[in-house]
Amino acid sequence: MTNNTITVTSPLLPDLEEFNELLKEIWASKWITNNGEFHKRLELELAHYLKVPFISLFTNGTLPLLTALQALKITGEVITTPYSFVATTHSIWWNGCQPVFVDIDPRTGNIDPEKIESAIGPKTTAIMPVHVYGKPCDTKRIQEIADKYGLKVIYDAAHAFGVEVDGQSILNAGDLSTLSFHATKVFNTIEGGAMIMHDEATKKRIDDLKNFGFHDEVTVVAPGINSKMDEMRAAYGLLNLRQVDAAIESRHQVAIKYRQALKSVKGISFFEDMPGVRHNYSYFPIFIDALEYGMTRDDLYFKMKDAGVFGRRYFYPLICDFSTYRGCKGTDRLPNARKMADSVICLPMHHELSALNMDKVVELITR
Ligand SMILES: *Cc1c(COP(=O)(O)O)cnc(C)c1O
Repeated sequence: MTNNTITVTSPLLPDLEEFNELLKEIWASKWITNNGEFHKRLELELAHYLKVPFISLFTNGTLPLLTALQALKITGEVITTPYSFVATTHSIWWNGCQPVFVDIDPRTGNIDPEKIESAIGPKTTAIMPVHVYGKPCDTKRIQEIADKYGLKVIYDAAHAFGVEVDGQSILNAGDLSTLSFHATKVFNTIEGGAMIMHDEATKKRIDDLKNFGFHDEVTVVAPGINSKMDEMRAAYGLLNLRQVDAAIESRHQVAIKYRQALKSVKGISFFEDMPGVRHNYSYFPIFIDALEYGMTRDDLYFKMKDAGVFGRRYFYPLICDFSTYRGCKGTDRLPNARKMADSVICLPMHHELSALNMDKVVELITR
């Protein structure tokens, strides 16, 4: 990477001096992992910030997905979306379950609730939707279907940090929700993640499961895993939490400018804000209609790349098109997901994207 390149994202980093002060505290305490003071503080502060009753920190955003399915004893088939990051489906596979893919609603990129019922069979035990780009799923409709058929709902909320609908956190929907705090996400702990649950008993069980299943020195409640967050990253997270609102507001300003600059470009479309939703502006996807725009998505993508502007074809390919998932159920009826995957480019979007660089991105698209 040279200084002339414009990256699709840039990590939110805490002030190095402040981080160093916290590291000194950790060094003095000699307590570096296993539910330390910073870990406990970050859980409390995140629960407060996110307006959720209980949260359990993890070492990344994939292991809480795996652990959620374990905790709910999910078996058989799990209904999910092909328009996501591979980790969503991987977590189903690692639990010995089969993914069943359902098409998306082109207005949001999220699983289309109206297509879920026809995918439910005798082996279905759960639905795993994703709040794609942080746009809230139709959680009410999904819950109605889940209740009707006695299914669990696990939300992959990796993109949905801080997203609220009518002042309520989207993370309280379903049985469990999971977050990713990977470096590329709105809020990061370098690597990291979390699970959100409704009650204390579930939190205790999840806390055990992420620590090999140990409940106490001599009791293992289930075959758990090791997915604990260490003190360094918890401290880093505490510092980032203080600046995440400012970062989201900077992203909001980027979104406003992109929309203004691109609204009259023929063949380019993008999402508007949804009424009553507090968005986190985690991504800025644009969709290219090759006929109207006069150039294919890939041609534009590579033209930008050649000019040092790194967008991301996110999500492309669809999860069901990776060879390892070929032949899974539902793969042959995904027209909306296919269309979106073939037309999307996520533009550079982060808290410190300069006006100059934004102009450069826009110029490449409008020229
Ligand atoms: C980032 C992401 C994950 C995985 O999170 P990691 O922290 O990278 O393990 C899972 N699902 C979605 C939708 C993601 O974007």
